[in-house]
Amino acid sequence: MQAPDKVAAPRRKTRQIHVGSVPVGGDAPITVQSMTITKTADVEGTLQQVYALAAAGADIVRCTCNEQEAAEGLAQIVPRSPVPIIADIHHQYRMALAALEAGVHGLRLNPGNIRNPEHIKTVARECKDRGVPIRIGVNAGSLDQRLYDKYGGATAEAMLESAQIELAYFEEVGFDDVKISVKASNVPLMIQAYRLLADHTDHPLHVGVTEAGPPPTGLIKATAGMATLLAEGIGDTIRYSLTADPVEEARAGRQLLEAMGLRERKSVDLIACPSCGRAEIDVIDVAQRAQAAFGEREIPLQVAVMGCVVNGPGEARDADIGIAAGRKKGHLFVKGQNVAVVPESEMVEALVEWAEFIVEHGVDAALSKADLTAAKAAADADRAALLAEQGDDANASATRVELIRKTVGAP
Ligand code: SF4
Repeated sequence: MQAPDKVAAPRRKTRQIHVGSVPVGGDAPITVQSMTITKTADVEGTLQQVYALAAAGADIVRCTCNEQEAAEGLAQIVPRSPVPIIADIHHQYRMALAALEAGVHGLRLNPGNIRNPEHIKTVARECKDRGVPIRIGVNAGSLDQRLYDKYGGATAEAMLESAQIELAYFEEVGFDDVKISVKASNVPLMIQAYRLLADHTDHPLHVGVTEAGPPPTGLIKATAGMATLLAEGIGDTIRYSLTADPVEEARAGRQLLEAMGLRERKSVDLIACPSCGRAEIDVIDVAQRAQAAFGEREIPLQVAVMGCVVNGPGEARDADIGIAAGRKKGHLFVKGQNVAVVPESEMVEALVEWAEFIVEHGVDAALSKADLTAAKAAADADRAALLAEQGDDANASATRVELIRKTVGAP
């Protein structure tokens, strides 16, 4: 049976907005966002980070606009950015107006921070005139105190009402170019809040777990929250909020969407065996070196690093390309067929070289340039030699089973 290539739930239907040239919602691909951590007034430093984020998979980047110098920086950053820029506004509505003057492609307003209705409507009017969308970014940690008191805490209902109040102000001035987020650092709460929100609006949703923390726990929490919602068809744009280099956020976002079949594969999907008693190499080391060698390059292939030629090519037969170790050699295989043998020290370089060839010329060309017979013979010979050395049971499983039987059967 063919494995499904994406999650099953149909995507929730939403209206579509545009952040600069990037559509969000409707039938647009789910987008990845991240945020710079430089001072926005540092134009060159911020632009460098924006470029790094875009290279790692960010479709849209947010920069803080917390002071006049930041807004002035945005005026120089926006025209040179490879992706649309959103200004993050915290407390001062004038900073929102300043960011619009700078030419940003979107604003993020936190309804818990800017509460004066006239200020909110002034910003919305200005956005309407300029065709610039706003994200209503509700955050459980900075919820309006009145809602906190009304609901007895930052509940999903309280977050929904916060977004609805903001939407109502926007509607008063005829502005509806809006996406919404209801983030919390508590994963079950965030899931509940987004589900509730999805039942009440057709605006596109920006999904994330706020303040998820450093990896790996932060990655796990954020993935748990976002993947659950995405699998239900909820979410039009996502952001990992990690305490880490933001490049990791962008990369993780891209990888999550690719892993769920929600975005076309752009970079390598590196798989590796868990290693066992048969391993002929340090699989972790080789896999890490391979991951580093592929980096962010646009090689949309599944690539396998396998610890032994006895079982590796078979276990990874669905990979586009892979390498399996055996007797100080690397056995390269393409779609399960052995194509070449290289010294163990050149495994990673050979893997990258063949992957590049496949991207440029295709699998069939790779197979036809290989000496399949010789490569298979070499792999078969090493497999046979290893089996002769290690026997059928390199992991000593049969001996362990025997011991278990004796232990259980003992009086
Ligand atoms: S049998 Fe070989 S390929 Fe499979 S886990 Fe062990 S070392 Fe890796």
